[in-house]
Amino acid sequence: MINRLCIIGVGLIGGSLARALKQANACNEIVGCGRDQAELEKACDLGVIDRFELDVAHAVAGADIVVVAVPVSAMASVFSAMAGHLADNTVLTDVGSSKGSVVIAAQQAFGEVPANLVPGHPIAGTEKNGVDASFAELYQGRRVILTPLSDTRPEAIKTVRNMWQQTGAHVEEMGVQHHDEVLAATSHLPHVLAYTLVDSLAQGEVQAEIFRYAAGGFTDFTRIASSDPAMWHDICLANREALLKVLETFSGDLAKLTEAINNADSEYLMRVFKHAKAAREHFAESTVPNNQSSN
Ligand code: NAP
Repeated sequence: MINRLCIIGVGLIGGSLARALKQANACNEIVGCGRDQAELEKACDLGVIDRFELDVAHAVAGADIVVVAVPVSAMASVFSAMAGHLADNTVLTDVGSSKGSVVIAAQQAFGEVPANLVPGHPIAGTEKNGVDASFAELYQGRRVILTPLSDTRPEAIKTVRNMWQQTGAHVEEMGVQHHDEVLAATSHLPHVLAYTLVDSLAQGEVQAEIFRYAAGGFTDFTRIASSDPAMWHDICLANREALLKVLETFSGDLAKLTEAINNADSEYLMRVFKHAKAAREHFAESTVPNNQSSN
């Protein structure tokens, strides 16, 4: 049982965590914090949080666990605002989509990465944002990746692991850099491709025709281009190094495919398409189907 949970950033991710923990009767009290009073009042009215504070230092007072669920570009300022106000036994975690940038932000704000900080990332989400879009089942059956450092306190890891398990999530651990490389390939690259495809087609001369005749494939492939532009701007810059690596590999593969189409190289095209189909089918069999993003 968590006595007091503090969530900084009661949006889709923070709000859904609060709802899930309330549904599981896992907390005595949930304190929300953000910049917009009206949104926090709404979160109280919806029963997502019990009360709120607009000041980060006041919000974290007496909390057993503090979850920072703000955009990755705001992590540094939120960490700075709580530095010197966390109790020794308060466990700190976050939900940011890139982990290296969060560790650097913590190092700068606290002088060193606190031993009670357990960086985390729920692999669950939707293309919507804000507390209105939050729902208790978001993490059910989904993965949450924790990226503790070598000197992170084992009890802190256990506390954060237990918290996520109560939402129905499966918790895994991996290194910070490994997380950022894997997520660059599986989440950040697909979002960049979806945004670029829609933007590119929306600028073309035949754009009205394209969107009028858009079939299921186009809709499926581009759904994630409806995600919050500000959030994805932040993620692309926060995970720039790993994203650039996968973009370079992908651009090379696309150039080879372009060349094969130019040369009517049937063998190459069939090899790529057959390999992709087999890999996709293998992947589909081993995962639970859903229509959520996995940022
Ligand atoms: P969201 O719905 O827009 O919520 C963000 C919340 O942060 C808002 O409640 C906002 O409230 C608050 N906030 C923003 N700047 C703040 C600041 N400087 N100080 C205090 N509060 C601040 O976004 P989200 O989708 O929940 O994303 C939150 C985090 O989860 C991001 O780091 C993202 O990378 C990560 N994530 C997102 C997904 C996804 O699919 N959406 C999945 C996994 C992880 P105010 O405007 O009132 O301050």
